[in-house]
Amino acid sequence: MTNANTATDQKNDFIRHIIRHDLAQNKYAKIVTRFPPEPNGYLHLGHVKSICLNFGIAAEFGGVCNLRFDDTNPTAEKQDYIDNIENDVKWLGFEWIGTPHHASGYFEQLYTWALQLIEQGDAYVDLQTLTQIRDNRGSFQIVGTPSPQRDASISDNLQRFDDMRQGKYGNGEAVLRAKIDMASPNMNLRDPVIYRVLHQTHHQTGDAWCIYPMYDYAHPLSDAIEEITHSLCTLEFEDHRPFYDWVIAKIGAKGGIKQAPHQYEFSRLNVDHTLTSKRKLKQLVDEGIVSGWDDPRMPTVAGMRRRGYTPEGLRDFCERVGVTKADSVVDFRMLEFSIRQSLDDTTARGMAVMRPLKVTITNFAEAVSEWQTLKSDSVQSRWDEGNKALWLTQPNHPNVDLGMRDIPFTEVIYIDQTDYELEPPQGYKRLSPSNTEIRLRNTYVLAVTEHILDAAGKVIELKATIDKTTLGQNPEGRKVKGVIHWVSASLGVPAIVRVYQHLFAVDDPASAEDVHSILNPNSLSEFKAVVEPSLANSAAGSRFQFEREGYFVADSVEHTPDSPVFNQIVSLRDSYKPS
Ligand code: ATP
Ligand code: MG
Repeated sequence: MTNANTATDQKNDFIRHIIRHDLAQNKYAKIVTRFPPEPNGYLHLGHVKSICLNFGIAAEFGGVCNLRFDDTNPTAEKQDYIDNIENDVKWLGFEWIGTPHHASGYFEQLYTWALQLIEQGDAYVDLQTLTQIRDNRGSFQIVGTPSPQRDASISDNLQRFDDMRQGKYGNGEAVLRAKIDMASPNMNLRDPVIYRVLHQTHHQTGDAWCIYPMYDYAHPLSDAIEEITHSLCTLEFEDHRPFYDWVIAKIGAKGGIKQAPHQYEFSRLNVDHTLTSKRKLKQLVDEGIVSGWDDPRMPTVAGMRRRGYTPEGLRDFCERVGVTKADSVVDFRMLEFSIRQSLDDTTARGMAVMRPLKVTITNFAEAVSEWQTLKSDSVQSRWDEGNKALWLTQPNHPNVDLGMRDIPFTEVIYIDQTDYELEPPQGYKRLSPSNTEIRLRNTYVLAVTEHILDAAGKVIELKATIDKTTLGQNPEGRKVKGVIHWVSASLGVPAIVRVYQHLFAVDDPASAEDVHSILNPNSLSEFKAVVEPSLANSAAGSRFQFEREGYFVADSVEHTPDSPVFNQIVSLRDSYKPS
C-alpha cells in the first residue's frame, strides 16, 4: 500500500500508527473503514469528527470508507434522516463508493448466523420478561441468575426462535441471548440480548421482519460482511469490545468470515456550550425551542451549514482536535478560529449597517457635481443621474482578487448608531461632537456639522459635509483617524440580520437535568439592517465579510434579493489563539 501523501505523514495519532503498522506487516490488502450512523436524527459536530477520521483515513491510505446506516431500531428511524445524513456527508467533502450500506440489508445473513449460534449451543431463547432479564443480570457485586431457558435443548431453541420470527410472540415476550457467562465481571458478557421481537414496520424492509438484531450483534457482523479492517468507535464501546470479538470468533470461518474486523476506540468530541447527543437535540426540535434541525444555532451539520460554516473550516477543526483516547472538552473558540480562517481569503467584503443612523450630506450635489473634474485616479466612478448616485467601483477583497463591485453613494446615507457618541468613552476613534471628521470606507472623508436629537435626547440624524478632494485620497494638511462603513439610504436594501450567541448559558449543557433552565435568552438577536446592493443581490448561501461587523451568510432558506436575510457566521476576531 502506498502512502505518498506527505501531509499524511504528519498525522500520527494512535489509530494511524496502528494502521501503518498493520500495513507494514502486510496484514491487509486494503484498509476499509466505515461511518455507521443510526438514522434516528441529524448528524452533529461529534459525527463530523468520526466522518473526518473514517473517510480521512481511507483517503490517506488508499482505502475505502463505507457509509453504513445502522438501522436496527425501526421505531426511531426514518428515511428523512437517511437522506439528510447522505447530504451532510457529501457536503463535508467526502464520498463513499457505490450505494450506502444498511445493516437492514444484512438481516437475512444475520438471522442465518443466529441459527448457527443456536446450533453451536452459543445462543438461546429467553422467555423471561424484560424486567426479569434486567433483574437477573445481577450487578458488579452480585453474579447473574441464569434464565430458566438457559439450558433448553438446541431443538427447543430453534423452534422458539422460528416462532419469534413467525410472529408468535408479542413485543417483549421473547429474546434471543448469546450464551456466554452470567458471572462475567463485564456486564456486556452476561448473556447479552442479540434479537428482540418488535412488531414494527421498517423503513427499508417493510413488514418482512418482526424480530430485529441488537446493535452489539449486528455491528461486528456488518463489519465482517463489509470486510472492514479497522472499526473505529468512541470510548464508551470499549467494554463492548469483548463481545464484538466473541461474536466474530463464534461465527468465524465456519460462518464464512474471511477476515476478522477489529474495533478501536477513540475519545468523543465534546465542545463547551454544545450538546452532541441526537436525543437531546431532537428534544430542542420537537419542543420548538429551535426552529428545526437546521436552526443556525444547532450544532448539527444542517444547522452549521445554514449558519454559514464551511466544510473546510470543520475539517480543519477536526484536524486540530486530533484523535486520542483522552476525554476532554474542546474550546468552542477553536471551532470559530477554524471557521474564521477558512473565510478570510475567500469572502467578498461588503457594507451593512446594523443600527442605521441617517446622515444627510448637505454639500452632496455640489461636491459630486465636480466628480468628473476631480475624478480620483485610484477610484473608478460613474454618475447616475436617474438615482442621483455616484457609483464607485471597489475591489471585493483588499488583497485577494475576488473581483470588483459597484457601491452607490448618495445624498442621504446610513452609518451605524454606535459610530456617533454624544459622550465618547476614552480612546474612542469614531464620531462625536469633539471629533467630527472620519473617513467613510470606499469613499470620501465626512465631517459632521450638526446632530439632531429626539425628545428623549437620542441622536436621530446627522448633517454633514464631504471633502470633495478626498475620494480615494488623504485630505491635505490633516490626519483623519477612523474609518467607518455606511450604506446609501435610497439604494441600500433593508435586510434582516441575525446575530447569534451560544444556545446554552452554561459551559456544560450535557450535564443539565433540564435544558429549559439553561437556555441563553440572548442566543438570537435580529437586526433591521440596511445593506449595500451587492450584498442584497447575492445568491442564498453566499458568504461575506460585513466590514467591521463579522462574517455573514445569505440565509439558504429565507434570503431573496428583495428581502435579504443574513446569518452571522462568526465574529471578526477574538483573543483566542490556538496552541
Ligand atoms: P448520539 O449519542 O448523538 O445518538 P451516537 O453515537 O448514538 O450519537 P450514531 O449515529 O450511532 O450516534 O453515531 C455514528 C458514529 O459517530 C459512531 O461511530 C459514533 O461513535 C460516532 N460519534 C457519535 N458521537 C460522536 C462524538 N461526539 N465524537 C466522535 N464520534 C462520535
Ligand atoms: Mg449510537
